[in-house]
Amino acid sequence: MFRAGKLTVAVTALLALAGGFLGVSAAAASQPQAATAGENYVIGTDTTFAPFEYRENGELTGIDMDLIRDIAENQGFTVEIKSLGFDAALQALQSNQVDGVIAGMSITDERKLIFDFSDPYFDSGVQMAVAEDNTEITGYADLAGETVVAKRGSEGETFANSIKDEYDFTVKALADSATMYDDVKAGNSVAVFDDYPVLAYGINQNNGLKSVTEKEQGSSYGFAVNKGQNPELLAAFNTGLAELQDNGDYQAILDTYLEQPAPAAASGFFGLLSDSIPALMKGLGLTLLATGLSILIALVLGVVFGFFKVSESRILRGIASVYVSIFRGTPLLVQAFFFYFGLPQLTGQSIDVLTAGVLTLSLNAGAYMTEIVRGGIQSVDPGQTEAGRSLGLGYVTTMRRVVLPQAVKIMTPSFINQFVMTLKDTSLLAVIGFAELTYQGQQIYAANFRTGETLLIVAALYFIVINLLTMLSNKLDKRFNK
Ligand code: GLN
Repeated sequence: MFRAGKLTVAVTALLALAGGFLGVSAAAASQPQAATAGENYVIGTDTTFAPFEYRENGELTGIDMDLIRDIAENQGFTVEIKSLGFDAALQALQSNQVDGVIAGMSITDERKLIFDFSDPYFDSGVQMAVAEDNTEITGYADLAGETVVAKRGSEGETFANSIKDEYDFTVKALADSATMYDDVKAGNSVAVFDDYPVLAYGINQNNGLKSVTEKEQGSSYGFAVNKGQNPELLAAFNTGLAELQDNGDYQAILDTYLEQPAPAAASGFFGLLSDSIPALMKGLGLTLLATGLSILIALVLGVVFGFFKVSESRILRGIASVYVSIFRGTPLLVQAFFFYFGLPQLTGQSIDVLTAGVLTLSLNAGAYMTEIVRGGIQSVDPGQTEAGRSLGLGYVTTMRRVVLPQAVKIMTPSFINQFVMTLKDTSLLAVIGFAELTYQGQQIYAANFRTGETLLIVAALYFIVINLLTMLSNKLDKRFNK
């Protein structure tokens, strides 16, 4: 857990302080092995970067995964792996949402300014690949006027950008290897820049690409923690790595993944369907959970701020207007990034992904609900209120017995609409690593490269669920709002 990690930092700091007083060095006062023993660390990784991390039958596997798990075991700590995507993993590390990152991450001078790296564990380098049937692009010189793709935040992207002016091409950034390769195969980009062991592995698995250039001199991979944080974890990683290298375990891991035999035969559409349904159902469950929680909170927010909006008090109306304009005036995606990555950086308090997701969706939907409630109340003829009041009913009673029953009838279709929108909006939370339906779909095609079919299945699931729920809501509406 992150909190445990923080505690360890505190303990290490205390030890260092005590050591300082006693005149011994911090290293002598705390043994790295003891400092990590029994701890659980959250480790961020890429969605797919085979053979370093990828999914097989739903399980995360690969060189990085075996390495971190074996090192943890060797050093007596445990790890919880979060498959976030490369750029998102680095963001999560910076905002302390994870304690460390292992993601085929190159040790570069720029990154050393913000992260501390372990000893290098694998030498890599960037290479260019094109579609198998492409005979036109045989080197950088053929890229003039074309678009190439690279992973956002990666060394491949940095390299492509460093030569794009010289060779006159455009660099487009995508978040994960699977969509990058698809982009090249679909002809949207003519080439991809990625790490050569990963390209080589994919090409060997018949991913539809071929490499046409030599690999560029590249950096080595390292395990990263935030600068100055979790030093005991870094030390334990280095000690563990050295031990695995000595006892042959490290070589055995490399051999397992680098000498991967021929690719498995692709199963048909129904094979894909039955393989992916368990993970997708798990995702659908989380989608519905996030939707349900968010809509409930949004309803409360909408009622409160909706009444503020129609109240006599200028202050209350002002508060409601500010709230609505903030959440309606900024994109949901930006809000999600803010709550998950931004807020923790500003406050130093980490937030789990479900909380951040529900916070984003409910505040966002709450703003729209506010307007629905306001509109509903205001659309009831003022004559109704006047009639109620002139019959001697108080404001509250008039609201409750005369205005609201009519207003709710008017509001219900808009509520149902908002509910459907919020359900669909949960898919945006995939970018912060919330394991809902879209995220699960991405994980699946990241592993099997069958993007089109997987997305069709995902879309069909949304379609079915949304239409069933809409039908149900309309039925309830008819029944109760006669
Ligand atoms: N090695 C590259 C980097 O660190 C790419 C890593 C990745 O895509 N997972 O930038």
